[in-house]
Amino acid sequence: MEWSRLYPGFLDESTGKMTKDVTIADVGCGFGGLLIDLSPAFPDNLILGMEIRVQVTHYVEDRIIALRQKHIETNGYQNINVLRGNAMKFLPNFFQKSQLEKMFFCFPDPHFKQRKHKARIITNTLLSEYAYVLKEGGIIYTITDVKDLHDWMVKHLDEHPLFERLDEEFEKNDECVKIMYNSTEEGKKVERNKGDKFLKCFRRLPDPK
Ligand code: SAM
Repeated sequence: MEWSRLYPGFLDESTGKMTKDVTIADVGCGFGGLLIDLSPAFPDNLILGMEIRVQVTHYVEDRIIALRQKHIETNGYQNINVLRGNAMKFLPNFFQKSQLEKMFFCFPDPHFKQRKHKARIITNTLLSEYAYVLKEGGIIYTITDVKDLHDWMVKHLDEHPLFERLDEEFEKNDECVKIMYNSTEEGKKVERNKGDKFLKCFRRLPDPK
């Protein structure tokens, strides 16, 4: 993976190596609102959106190019970018074991029908992959307006031996929760429609001895 293509501001020209690795992933990033709000909050982290739709990915790429241009004097928005791909298939191709500190699953597709549940982005098998790429203490953030999907995500994360649920105290104090709650395009739509938002966070536990 040629990361310098996505984050040229973090390439050390003298060694040809990246000065940072990606540590935050927004899975199914849609139109990129979360990436854009996380960027100034985490200037020292590389943040990657993963999105399966080609046109949407192009839109996010253009958005980031425009922001970088606008903030050229301060080197703003150099730490975010987007990658087109199926995160359910290819996530471990992009990240090493324990590389990530945070993973976001914001308003994932609900796949309402029972026979479609296996297409959901949180499943037992996929959680093991997420646990692989997340470091110990890393956080999974989930938010949705669909109660049934929320219950599904919480159930699977609760049942997985490598994750523990975080309490409301964490949610109240965590900066990312605040950002995630209102920054994504889907979240804004739910806000406009006065819908509910259900969120839960989980910490990656240490591997068992
Ligand atoms: N997170 C964004 C938000 O809150 O505005 C987008 C939410 S939208 C309902 C779900 C997004 O996930 C869509 O843009 C969809 O294309 C993307 N998606 C669905 N399955 C995916 C997959 N397997 N890999 C990457 N992206 C995926």
